[in-house]
Amino acid sequence: MRELLLIKYAPEIFLKGLNRGKFERKLKENIKFVLKDMEYEFVEDSGRWFIQSTYLEEVIERVKNIFGVMEVCIVHEVQNSMEAIGDEALRVLKETGAKTFKVETNRANKEFPLNSMEVSREIGAYILKRLDNVSVNVKNPEFLVHIEIRNNSYVIAKKIKAVGGLPYGMNGSTMLMLSGGIDSPVAGYLMARRGVELNAVYYHSPPYTSERAKEKVKMLADILKGYTGNYNLYIVPFTDIQLQIIEKCREDELTIIMRRFMMRIACRLAEKYNINSVTTGESVGQVASQTMEALVVSDDCSDRPVFRPLVAMDKVDIMDISREINTYETSILPYEDCCTIFVPKHPKTKPRLPEIIKSESVLDIDKLVEEAIEKMEVYR
Ligand code: ATP
Ligand code: MG
Repeated sequence: MRELLLIKYAPEIFLKGLNRGKFERKLKENIKFVLKDMEYEFVEDSGRWFIQSTYLEEVIERVKNIFGVMEVCIVHEVQNSMEAIGDEALRVLKETGAKTFKVETNRANKEFPLNSMEVSREIGAYILKRLDNVSVNVKNPEFLVHIEIRNNSYVIAKKIKAVGGLPYGMNGSTMLMLSGGIDSPVAGYLMARRGVELNAVYYHSPPYTSERAKEKVKMLADILKGYTGNYNLYIVPFTDIQLQIIEKCREDELTIIMRRFMMRIACRLAEKYNINSVTTGESVGQVASQTMEALVVSDDCSDRPVFRPLVAMDKVDIMDISREINTYETSILPYEDCCTIFVPKHPKTKPRLPEIIKSESVLDIDKLVEEAIEKMEVYR
């Protein structure tokens, strides 16, 4: 018997038809990348992927966080004989201490003399004969004895839920507007989990926002890199734009005009670096600048799709995810962000596009955008 890790990927990948091979190759590449400094062997048996390693615990910790992996299972590999399978099933069940069980078999190897129903029935009987005080419970067993028959046979000893999603890098790219708050890192994570490659932009307003606020955004970018691998964080100076808006525009329109600048710059950078889309951490109705009307007015500045994966989520649920992905503690560090410093007392909650366009026409928009991009810093 040898112990292996079985890697099960998202069923969505099975549905990819002719593209399935591409998704599988990418996922395999991502798995190998994550394990590159470890000793292990990648084993395939009729379409199933296994990993053998003396450091299986560490392998599990890493592989279960790879986007596209749905579940990992510790399995015991044995020869294709009913006796070997029965003995291993018996041992696994005994170890769990469960009093009721059910056997389920998946037979990919059609040369095996019994079909899956027969295997389940006979292994069930084999166990009952040798183990006292256990019984079969088909509807609600304490332990499911799961058997896979391929070129070899496998008894699943433990199932561990993995992160799910789709292989990173398979679904285009996005420019994440990353602030120091709770929401935008979660938005970036959710896009990355769907296989979308991340890049990020942060608007920095010194001296109104401190170096520490900038460091905090870098830390958040670094935490996300743990899920995605390296990407660039573009740090764009935003002070001049904000001061111009304050000087020349109506106070109740400051926020919406500022958000339109953020959108323009994100799109300009996306164009420059060949990035398909923009992502923000906005959620409809969360604050004055996130009303439906405001979202529509800021989208007007975008020449590509703007994704808001949190749009229909409650704050408490967003916070739960941020704890899970380890960004929460960093996000709540108390350094100000540029939006809180320049907030109007009574921001317009229902901005109208023609009015906003008229108000901002006193600004030299192209020049402000270009100058900001010229002075940006890239954090790699
Ligand atoms: P977050 O928790 O992500 O900061 P928020 O609830 O504070 O969001 P806003 O300040 O209105 O909401 O920002 C909405 C979105 O705009 C953010 O989720 C982020 O995507 C983007 N954003 C806001 N401020 C900045 C900034 N300084 N740099 C980059 N993106 C920003
Ligand atoms: Mg914020």
